[in-house]
Amino acid sequence: MTKKLLGVGIVTLDIINHVEHYPAEDEALRATRSRRARGGNAANTLAVLGGVLGVKTCLVSTLAPGPDANFVLHDLHACHVDTSHCRMYPGCSLPTSYITLNDANGSRTIVHWRDLPELTAATDVVSHIDLDDYDWVHFEGRNVEQTTIMMAWIHAYNEKHINKRPPIKISLEVERAKLVNYESLLVYADVVFFSKEFAESRECSSALELLELMRLKNEKRSALICGWGEKGACALDEADNVFNCPAFEPVKVVDTIGAGDTFVAGVIHAMRSGKPLDKALRFGCRLAGAKCGIEGFRIEH
Ligand code: ADP
Repeated sequence: MTKKLLGVGIVTLDIINHVEHYPAEDEALRATRSRRARGGNAANTLAVLGGVLGVKTCLVSTLAPGPDANFVLHDLHACHVDTSHCRMYPGCSLPTSYITLNDANGSRTIVHWRDLPELTAATDVVSHIDLDDYDWVHFEGRNVEQTTIMMAWIHAYNEKHINKRPPIKISLEVERAKLVNYESLLVYADVVFFSKEFAESRECSSALELLELMRLKNEKRSALICGWGEKGACALDEADNVFNCPAFEPVKVVDTIGAGDTFVAGVIHAMRSGKPLDKALRFGCRLAGAKCGIEGFRIEH
């Protein structure tokens, strides 16, 4: 049986207002268009893996029941993402990202709101999922304490099955500037994706500077990768070889929402298919560039 990819993270409702220019503070501006979409880093990455790249995926996330959850679940199912391990919390609402999308340059500004509990290892993952069915688990870097427990559990499974099957690969996305005490997440991941936002919050002015800084905290010598918007991406392999890849600019940048999530999906898919890191980096950049040229995620590649 083909093994599946498990994704652990969040799914949100995105409310996207298109504007002709980014508003100044206190300005009243009419949106030219408003639309709703499924969002959330892990959910977007899995939707690209499932809907565009044909990978069998399963998402573990928390949700709040209601029309918003029905909307995002319908969308995930259309991308062949299994959501049967998601947990519903009645009485809450679905996390919502209010996104201002500047049609002049495709840039997006996000205000995020949530009152939904985060995933807990004991109730949401550890006891429910048969890892025999999986060959890769991707984690969104949030909720550090619980996520570390979940990663340690995958690691323990690998130790237990050391001569019986290839180890499950673990990838991690570290995106948010505010994430603190994230070092414990670097202990288990085979592949770590960092964002430009995270790099700049650590006072790094290039992707490579951030990766070299992160290497000092990464005894496992994971593959370390950092996207840098329209400048492309950089990676360090376990022997500290450096790979750079320029961005693949589309004819017109239409929508950069989820460019990073698409990049992550592309790199994971290529690595999971046995491609070396430099080729995987290139595939991720190409896929993300194509995504920037269209609205949403129906990417032709
Ligand atoms: P995020 O969505 O997390 O802000 P980035 O902006 O760093 O992610 O973009 C991730 C990847 O998407 C980049 O490495 C690049 O390959 C691609 N990308 C982002 N913006 C553009 C763009 N304007 N043109 C082409 N590719 C882009």
